[in-house]
Amino acid sequence: MATLGNPKETIEILNKYNFTFQKKFGQNFLIDTHVLDKIVKAAGVTKDDMVLEIGPGIGTLTQYLCEAAREVIAVEIDKTLIPILRDTLSAYTNVTVINEDILKLDINKLVQERNNNKPVKIVANLPYYITTPIIMGLFEAHVPVDNITVMVQKEVADRMQSGPGTKNYGALSLAVQYYAKPYIAANVPPNCFIPRPGVGSAVIRLNLHKERPVQVSDENLMFRIIRASFNQRRKTLVNGLNNSSEISLPKEIIAEAIDELGVSPTIRGEALTLEQFAILSNVIYNKMNS
Ligand code: SAM
Repeated sequence: MATLGNPKETIEILNKYNFTFQKKFGQNFLIDTHVLDKIVKAAGVTKDDMVLEIGPGIGTLTQYLCEAAREVIAVEIDKTLIPILRDTLSAYTNVTVINEDILKLDINKLVQERNNNKPVKIVANLPYYITTPIIMGLFEAHVPVDNITVMVQKEVADRMQSGPGTKNYGALSLAVQYYAKPYIAANVPPNCFIPRPGVGSAVIRLNLHKERPVQVSDENLMFRIIRASFNQRRKTLVNGLNNSSEISLPKEIIAEAIDELGVSPTIRGEALTLEQFAILSNVIYNKMNS
């Protein structure tokens, strides 16, 4: 039975080990059992699953995952939390704690060695200062993943699932939607954490696509075009791409490519769908290589 997940037990453990929160590690620990249940449920964790948890903290969500999963691997950067985790997870034989920076860990190697390269579930209350690098790192390294179910800032969750023409739509929306289908499973207020974060949070589940939703000749080029289009949101697409150091093509060629896409010459990048960015990048790719 999980023992953590409420303010009393959490404060007792923190006091027992004289733990001091490190802001630089984005430490906001969960103290609400309903939210913990909701995360595990949203991830659909079963006894068949190996779960990778990023940032176990004092092991609160880890206990819930150990109850639900076959095996849990928890990666924690803060070495002062390791003796605490040894204590709070002592009742479980299906957990391994790794003291490492998740951004430096070879996750593909880990999944290969520990799960025969079969897809894992990634579940975490993420450190907010590195949400994007963690998620993009998992996508770009093509780690075998079934779904990623994570607590993130509410605003970031909104950005991940926004579509064209909305204020939250941007490079992150397109990157996430290229690799996965996002769905917000719960909104979580600051009082569910200790210490309380200054912003609202949300649990988002990202179901990885089995096949990419669009075909692109050069993924890297498409993402350079996307970044260039959103770097200068107020500019037209043609000017945004022309002013960007990411794309080195004469303005006439860029205008020609936009014309071939069949949209207005004064369109802004924020109006384009993922499919349109894919087509545009394929047209530009052909022009660059002809
Ligand atoms: N899972 C715990 C919970 O829900 O109560 C703690 C979540 S807290 C928001 C984020 C955790 O990630 C902290 O324990 C922090 O030390 C850890 N962390 C921060 N940066 C990390 C990194 N680069 N690699 C691994 N863990 C990290």
